Amino acid sequence: MPPPVVWQQRWHPLREEWVLFTSHRGGRPWIGDTHKPAVAAVPGYDPTCALCPGNRRLHGENPRYPGTYCFTNDLPCFSAEAPAPVGGDDFYRTRPATGTAEVVCYSPDHAKTFVDLTDEECRAVVDLWAERTVVLGARADVDHVLIFENKGSLVGTSNPHPHCQIYAGNLIYGFTAREVESGRKFFQGTGRCLGQEILAREAAGPRVITQNDAWLACVPWFARYAYEVFILPKRPAASLADLTSAERASLGLMVREVATRYDNLWRLPMPYVMAVHQAPCDGPDYAFYPFHLEFHPPLRKPDTMKYLAGPEIGGGSMTNESDPDEKAAELRAVPSVHYKRS
Ligand SMILES: [Zn+2]
Repeated sequence: MPPPVVWQQRWHPLREEWVLFTSHRGGRPWIGDTHKPAVAAVPGYDPTCALCPGNRRLHGENPRYPGTYCFTNDLPCFSAEAPAPVGGDDFYRTRPATGTAEVVCYSPDHAKTFVDLTDEECRAVVDLWAERTVVLGARADVDHVLIFENKGSLVGTSNPHPHCQIYAGNLIYGFTAREVESGRKFFQGTGRCLGQEILAREAAGPRVITQNDAWLACVPWFARYAYEVFILPKRPAASLADLTSAERASLGLMVREVATRYDNLWRLPMPYVMAVHQAPCDGPDYAFYPFHLEFHPPLRKPDTMKYLAGPEIGGGSMTNESDPDEKAAELRAVPSVHYKRS
């Protein structure tokens, strides 16, 4: 048995920050709130859902779409009509929030999640992500396309309809900005892609969960959350726009398998925040950028949240109360077929 990961800090090579590991504290007595993800039956169509086919939204009405469906967010956080800022100066700087925001429905079926999609439906979602990355990235008022999914009420999603969001504006999101710098430094120092270095180390280690021809899923050595999962490409890529049609198809299957293994862990719909980390589109060549997907589930146990508190919110550094090798083994041990179908 390897020694437990205690009183140890690990360097996060993408964010360039230390993560504190205290796996001896993971089993400490808990007398606070407990949370179980909702497992209430969800109907295939909800007349009050803003995302279901044929329903009215705040602005407009959804067509009776048969597959994926993408539309401009009714309350976008970026806009082509952003007014010139009022106030501000050289110190308290300001700028308009230009761009747009979109919503992508994975399916017309209100009751489905990514785990329920067919191979073709998985592929259609990733194809749409790639198409919107190219289309939105070509806009002069868009510097970065952030694609993310908030799944479950524990991460603040009020609507279970399977969907993700795309924020495309003149803001390069903070983690991507850091990964541009870490990726650039690594490339300048070694001539290699930082993402491929992480891939090589994880592929040889005990934290691989699953892999296919083009992708590897692992709990990275420097994981910040107990069940954090990265999906890494097996060849250098900077964004969804770099992927071949076959790579997009196998990425869809990999996302579905990760989500399925999460659900199978406790036979519950696992909440998570998923984010596609891709290079900015503000002009420069970012071929060195370490494209990947990240999943951050907030649960440490079926009924225990990882609360961000003093060390994280107050201090700005993450504490992980578990051993990534052990968490990867748990996710590897569960079936790749969803419990609802086994
Ligand atoms: Zn719906």
